[in-house]
Amino acid sequence: MCPEVIHKDADAARAANLRDYEQACRSFSWQRARAELAGMPGGGLNIAFEAVDRHVEQGRGEKVALRCVGRDDSVLNITYGQLAAQSAQFANVLKALGVGRSDRVFTLLGRCPQLYAVALGTLKNGSVLCPLFAAFGPEPVRQRMQLGDAKVLVTNEALYMRRVEANRGRLPGLEHVVLVGPVAGEHPGTMRYDEAMAAADDRFATVPTDPQDMALLHFTSGTTGTPKGAVHVHEAVVAHYATAGFALDLHPDDVYWCTADPGWVTGTSYGIIAPLARGATMVVDEGEFDARRWYRILAEQRVSVWYTAPTAIRMLMRATPQAGPDELPGRFDLSALRFIASVGEPLNPRAVLWGRDVLGLPVHDNWWQTETGAIMIANFAACEIRPGSMGRVLPGVEAAVLARGEDGRVLLDAQGRVTVLDAGAEGELALRPGWPSMFRGYLHDDARYAACFADGWYLTGDLVSRDRDGWFWFVGRGDDVIKSAGHLIGPFEVESALMEHPAVAEAGVIGRPDPVAGEVVKALVSLKIGFAAGPDLEAELLAFARRRLGPAVAPREIAFDQNLPKTRSGKIMRRVLRARERGLPEGDVSTMEDLRS
Ligand code: ATP
Ligand code: MG
Repeated sequence: MCPEVIHKDADAARAANLRDYEQACRSFSWQRARAELAGMPGGGLNIAFEAVDRHVEQGRGEKVALRCVGRDDSVLNITYGQLAAQSAQFANVLKALGVGRSDRVFTLLGRCPQLYAVALGTLKNGSVLCPLFAAFGPEPVRQRMQLGDAKVLVTNEALYMRRVEANRGRLPGLEHVVLVGPVAGEHPGTMRYDEAMAAADDRFATVPTDPQDMALLHFTSGTTGTPKGAVHVHEAVVAHYATAGFALDLHPDDVYWCTADPGWVTGTSYGIIAPLARGATMVVDEGEFDARRWYRILAEQRVSVWYTAPTAIRMLMRATPQAGPDELPGRFDLSALRFIASVGEPLNPRAVLWGRDVLGLPVHDNWWQTETGAIMIANFAACEIRPGSMGRVLPGVEAAVLARGEDGRVLLDAQGRVTVLDAGAEGELALRPGWPSMFRGYLHDDARYAACFADGWYLTGDLVSRDRDGWFWFVGRGDDVIKSAGHLIGPFEVESALMEHPAVAEAGVIGRPDPVAGEVVKALVSLKIGFAAGPDLEAELLAFARRRLGPAVAPREIAFDQNLPKTRSGKIMRRVLRARERGLPEGDVSTMEDLRS
């Protein structure tokens, strides 16, 4: 893919770093990571206790936990002590309502300050947190609440009216709706967050949950089909804590910013739990994406560790390609920034290098899923970056590349055993279960859960290869891989090659049915500002891709589309592009970003 390797330091330091990695892998165990957390006094393990109360008990209550930047640029600091008290109040609110252990509390909120007290208070009460994207329409909200057995919903007035009120009668299990912020109208069957909190005590004896008690319910992004509700337990906090150290280099003196939406697993694992468990200060931005605003937050809040997504990096690249002194990024002081990481989709090599050139730091890609609950594979802080690669496995994680059969499923012999492939071969990425944040099931769908395992491995559904040094390279989702004239083509490679062209902002690559080749490669491309779609540019891009990829892999056809369909977590929905190409229904598009809103 991209031959260039980014060395963080001089060669000698790099060699030491690699030794550190190997040393870390040897000396790491999940038991030892767990011992770094406190555990509840008197027994039990509870995410919220580890994330907030532990710091207060250890004398760090005055430290700022959340720095909330409002849409109007106002800044509200919330200390660990305040967050402990507020979350205790919310736990008391739930308790007073008769909401208890393992009852489901859904949130439908943007990144507002109250979200954190609600999330942590829910966990303190032993209830289960289930965050939804605030931008979901009424039907996706209803479906998920129904599937997830919602007992409580915390939202605001506008979202309640637009997304929930009309469906309330179809959700008999939904006993309580709590409205955050100002409430202008009358809404029977709802209560006000501010009033309930004002009446609640700010001391609460956190429920001593068992490490295996259900804590979080996360719906997957729905990139490949109907979203699944992945169940996670309290001991997941051990993985959030440990992986944020390895993969995000996150330490207590960091100012950390995670741009993920709170409705996506990243927004909880690394947007609430991990940074607090590590005792850092977290920036919470209530606003929307805007290049100038983002640079300003990075600069003014002195962000040191930044966790974002390929789609966000590509939006920044599109808006601000250069970093000369007069260009937008050049006008902000990003000197506090020392680590950038990305997740959610493959990160094109071009984006890694753009980070280095424009932000002053390369972007460290890492890989994980809703199901894994925490980062599994990463371009470490300590190691060199291989642009275009997902990185290496984290300590405590065992991964393998498994052979797949003609039907696209993992190959099993007569004894039900898998074949582990050597370096260089493409196959399905599999993980050996045993890390604490591994999902414990898809809610109400045991068959789908069981189908994720074979011969002691968890099958991820992603196609990858591993190089000889242990770096993993993403090829495509199992369902996205294109079969053309006997070749298996991963869309990521083609998309990354197209993105090397100065006109291309984003690309989505699919197989178009073809009577001779089975499928031929088709690319849908969105353009950067200043470039016009047309036959000349199409011919140029086709020739450009052909030079880079060769005729077997290069697209045969290019179409221009400024609004590539994406999930709300920012992933290009190739299955929607494929359905459109074939004139078929688009399937479940509940998680598709609404480009008009
Ligand atoms: P669904 O399972 O509903 O189809 P989804 O898989 O997109 O949706 P998530 O759990 O949010 O839901 O995303 C995990 C997937 O995202 C991974 O399986 C992988 O395909 C992709 N992904 C995440 N990080 C990376 C990465 N660094 N490189 C390549 N792909 C990634
Ligand atoms: Mg998935």
